[in-house]
Amino acid sequence: MIKTKPTEMIMNAKMHDLMNQQIKHEFESAYLYRAMSAYFQDLNWPGAAHWFQHQADEEDKHAMKFFHHLVERGGKVELLAMAKPQFEWDSPLAAWKAAFEHEKFITGKIHTLVDLAMAEKDYASMPLLQWFVDEQIEEEKSTFDVVRMMERIEGHTNGMMALDKVLGKRE
Ligand code: MG
Repeated sequence: MIKTKPTEMIMNAKMHDLMNQQIKHEFESAYLYRAMSAYFQDLNWPGAAHWFQHQADEEDKHAMKFFHHLVERGGKVELLAMAKPQFEWDSPLAAWKAAFEHEKFITGKIHTLVDLAMAEKDYASMPLLQWFVDEQIEEEKSTFDVVRMMERIEGHTNGMMALDKVLGKRE
C-alpha cells in the first residue's frame, strides 16, 4: 500500500508552504518589535518600549494561529530561520515609520495568501485569512496613527512625553 503524506491528503501543497513562511514572518515581526522595544528602552521612552513589547506578544500569537491551523489540517510545521532584525534607527519617528512599513509588508503577505486560497479554492483557510485581513487594517492604523502624531509634535518635549505616557497605557 502506498503511504500518502497527510499534507497531500488534506492541504494544498502551495498553501502549506506559504503558511509555514507566514509563521516565520509573524515570528520575525515579534523579533523586530522586541528590537524596537529595546531601542526605546535605551532612549528612555518607557511607554513606547512597553507598546512594542506588547505588540511583539501579539505577533507571537499571530504565528501560533498559523501554527495551529497547519496542525489541525494535518500539515507539518517547519520553523524556518529568522533574519536578524535592525536594532538602531535614526530617530523615534524613523522607528515608528519602519513599524508602519513592516505592517504594510505583512499585509502584502496576507493578501498573497488570500489570492492563493481563492485560486486553489482552499475554503478551509478562508476564515483564518479573513481574520488576518481585518487584523492588518488595525495594525496599519495603530502604527500610522503614532507616525502622524509624532510628526505633529516633533521637537516638542512635552508633546513627546505625553505621547509616551499614552503608549505606556496599552493593555
Ligand atoms: Mg502580525
